[in-house]
Amino acid sequence: MNNTISCPICRSATTLDDSNLFRPFCSDRCRLVDLGKWVDEKYSITNFPEMNEDKNYSYVH
Ligand SMILES: [Zn+2]
Repeated sequence: MNNTISCPICRSATTLDDSNLFRPFCSDRCRLVDLGKWVDEKYSITNFPEMNEDKNYSYVH
């Protein structure tokens, strides 16, 4: 079984199996990039805040 896909963000080869915690992305970085696209482009990837205590942040998953 080959679950290899292209990361939607960086197009690197990655997998959809359970070992990839960030699927369908290749990494946590790309996952956050994707989040950042619809949250707020002003967020920096390296300083992405914890979401839990931000009461102004309506997180819809
Ligand atoms: Zn990626």
